[in-house]
Parts: sequence; C-alpha cells; structure tokens
Amino acid sequence: MRKISADWLYSIDSPPIERGVVVVNENGVIRSIGHRGDFDKTELEIHHGLLVPGFVNTHCHLELSHMKGVTDTGIGLLAFLEKVVKLRHFPQDEIQQAIHRADADMYAAGIQAVGDISNQADTFECKDRSPIRYHTFIEMFDFLQEDRSAEIIRDFVRVHEAATGLFAAVPHAPYTVSPGLFRRLNSLNRDKDVTVSIHNQETNAENQLFLEKQGDFLDFYRVFQFSLDDFRPTGKTSIHYALAHLDPQKRTLFVHNTHTSGHDIRTAQAWNKNVFWATCPNANLYIENQLPDYQSFLDTDARMTIGTDSLTSNWQLSVLEEMKTIARYKSYVPFETLLQWATLNGAEALGMEREIGSLAVGKRPGILLLDFDPERQKLYDPQVSVKRLI
Ligand SMILES: [Zn+2]
Repeated sequence: MRKISADWLYSIDSPPIERGVVVVNENGVIRSIGHRGDFDKTELEIHHGLLVPGFVNTHCHLELSHMKGVTDTGIGLLAFLEKVVKLRHFPQDEIQQAIHRADADMYAAGIQAVGDISNQADTFECKDRSPIRYHTFIEMFDFLQEDRSAEIIRDFVRVHEAATGLFAAVPHAPYTVSPGLFRRLNSLNRDKDVTVSIHNQETNAENQLFLEKQGDFLDFYRVFQFSLDDFRPTGKTSIHYALAHLDPQKRTLFVHNTHTSGHDIRTAQAWNKNVFWATCPNANLYIENQLPDYQSFLDTDARMTIGTDSLTSNWQLSVLEEMKTIARYKSYVPFETLLQWATLNGAEALGMEREIGSLAVGKRPGILLLDFDPERQKLYDPQVSVKRLI
C-alpha cells in the first residue's frame, strides 16, 4: 500500500481536499481517500502540488507519429490534408519506432487512456501491449462516392477485421462519408458498447459546402479527383448531415468543433443524450490558427473532453499542454473545469468511467502530481509540469 498526499487532492467527482491522502494498493487500485490528520505522518508519501487522476486523451492518430514536423504550420486544413495523404508512406521500422515512442511519451505525460484513430493496422501491436488503455476508432471514408463506396473502403474493412481490444468503425467527417457508408458503419457497431467519433466543423469550408456547395472543398475534391456532381447542399451546417446519418443510440464524440455554434451544440444534444465534444486546441492553432468558442460549450452544459490530435498537427502529445493553451488564450475557462474535461469527461466519452477518470475507491485511474499552485501561478506558466506517481 502507498499512502500519497499533496497540498491538494482533486478527486474530480467530489470537492478538492486540502492535504488529502489517497491510499493505493500494489495494483494501483484506490482503497481509500482521506485527510492527512487521519494518518500517522511517518507512513505518508508527501508531495508539493496537486494530486489528480490520470488524463484521458480522447482524440489521437498514433499511426501518424512518424510525420512529426513534416507539414508547415498555419497552412489551413485542406492544404494540410493534401500533404498528409501524399506524405504518408515511410519505411515500416520508422513508423513503428515513432508509434512506440509516442505511446511511451503519452504514458509518461500522465495519459491513462486514449481514443485513437486508425486508418491502418500499424498501431495494433503497440496498443495491445501498452499500459495505456485504448479505444480504437477504425476510421472510414469514401469521399461521398456512394456507388463506389465498397471498392474505396475495402482496405478499411480489412483493418476493421484485424482490430483487437475495444474498437468501433467510425466515419471520418461529414464531408467524406456518404449516407450508404454511414449505414454500413452503423451496422458494424450494432450491439457493441462502443463510442463513435467523427471529425466535425474543423474548418469553415465544411459548413460552406453543406450550406451552399461553395468554398474550398470544391477544390479539394478536384485535387483528389472525386466528383461532387451528385452532391446536393442541405442548407444547414455540416453537423446536421452527420446527425441525420449517425446512430443516435451510440455514445458519440464530435472532434474539433472549431466552427460549431451554440445552436449546433443544442441540436446535437437534443438528438442524443450521450453526446461528447473533443477539443484539440494545439492542433487547431497548428493547422488553422483558430480556436473553438468555448463559451458556447459552457453555456450549453456540453461535455467537453480534450484531445491532442496527432504529431503531424501538434508539437507534442500532452493533455497538460492542451489545457495550458486553453488557459492562455481562453482564460475564462476555470482550472477545475479544464481538469474535469481532461479526466472524468474523457473517461465517460470512451465508456471507461467505471475504472478511470477520478480518484474514487475501486478505480485504477493512475495518479498524477501536478506541480501547480492555482493561488500563485497561471496554468500556462512554463514551470507547471506533471509527473506520474502511479
Ligand atoms: Zn483527427
């Protein structure tokens, strides 16, 4: 048994405890939570800072780790996607090394669970052996080519058949998935307790396409040589198209939401009470130099979670670094709210809240020491750091 104490203990599902103590057995399972006064001081491990549960990274592309720094920053989503697709092919040993390094770095940075997108099977072996718990999203897209969908997604179906652990088949984004492919994905996930994720409203061009069939996506489709001749704009923002075709019975995670309005959020939350949102602020700055309007998410009681996206669109895979970015640019989001986004909300989004996400008896959430004094420091202070204790 370890009896760990720090200046404050943030359990997340109850109020913070000053000089709190968490008692953990040799398997990392929490046995009790208490106060320093209840223990003999000599049996305590005492730290400066805050005790918090392990972080949950709800959106990552581990398989793109080898492309770190390959694309320029600030070029916009469409130019970014073109580069990523063209530059994906590297020697397999380089790909594997980068995947294993990124997985180990995430664990060291306090990440306990990851919602990870896979277009290929490259990460499966690493994820099977990792101390991190993964929910894999086998992502498919057919560029809205309903009649050619079976042929275009053949490789994705193979990846789906090879998948292990907790996984779901998921659509890439509203602008790349036809109604027929949505139906197929829904049937692959039927009767499974999984989360479905979808990239959503990452760029304004996505809304423009669905509102009026205008904007940069017309060029994007030309570059990839897929026809939009049969595409009819819906006259509504892109999330409405996703809502019309996703399964409302499934826990659903909308990712990025950089151009999502309060009305969009309310519509999604009325459609399905199990809706979660992932924000990847550093990737938004890396690619598009924009951030979501977090106030709209606070005003609608949206269950926000935090993702790192991939090393192709970020400088590192660290939930703390994402929290720092929000604290720096959108300082109206309180620290305790950010902590909830980074832990329990993420665990709920991945269906893992019974085991991780808060410091509660019976859970095995990982225990982190956040070297941070909310009274005297800003969260984005470079000195603020995180260390994994368990
Ligand atoms: Zn992504």
